[in-house]
Amino acid sequence: MPSAISESNPLPSGRGSCCDDDDCAAESTQNDPMIISGLSSAVFAMLEGIGEDPHREGLLKTPERVARSLRFLTKGYRQDPEELLKKAVFTEAYDEMVLVKDIDIFSMCEHHMLPFFGKAHVAYIPDGKIVGLSKLARVVDVFARRLQVQERLTQQIRDAIQNVLNPKGVAVVIEARHLCMVMRGVEKINSVTTTSAMSGQFITSQSTRSEFLRLIKP
Ligand SMILES: [Zn+2]
Repeated sequence: MPSAISESNPLPSGRGSCCDDDDCAAESTQNDPMIISGLSSAVFAMLEGIGEDPHREGLLKTPERVARSLRFLTKGYRQDPEELLKKAVFTEAYDEMVLVKDIDIFSMCEHHMLPFFGKAHVAYIPDGKIVGLSKLARVVDVFARRLQVQERLTQQIRDAIQNVLNPKGVAVVIEARHLCMVMRGVEKINSVTTTSAMSGQFITSQSTRSEFLRLIKP
């Protein structure tokens, strides 16, 4: 059975505020004023639509704030995950499992545009090439910062790693809570949705698959 290296949480978490970090600052310079203006108008109409008065003091800057926030939360549309991975590929003979677990994910469901969030665990078995560990977390982020369903998000992460590294196998598991289930509709506050996508040895080798599943257990 192969041994594994693993790393938890390579990205700083708790980026709660969207407008005071470097990523957001870089993003805001790319934000076309026309796009922000159009989005702001749409948010203004939404405020009216829910019965609010967009002219009251507390809401005056809300349309533009929401517009910028939405652009940030969907910036993955303007990033190429495979290009990002290709920047940090190295030739290396290491051929055991590489696992990055507990990667924070924040995404939005495409059905309600409400957040879903949780953890992603990403593993692969190299075949002559490895990739910088932080890039695995970045790839998760690029796909998460789009409107998503959790099932597709899981597969897209697997496929991007498979396409760029052509490893002996990739495994991705995501565990997430969906606010569209928690806040509305069925109101199942503690429900967690788990999805997985695998390829290569994670499908063909029961021992590899078991080892991965054992390693990602909390
Ligand atoms: Zn939803």
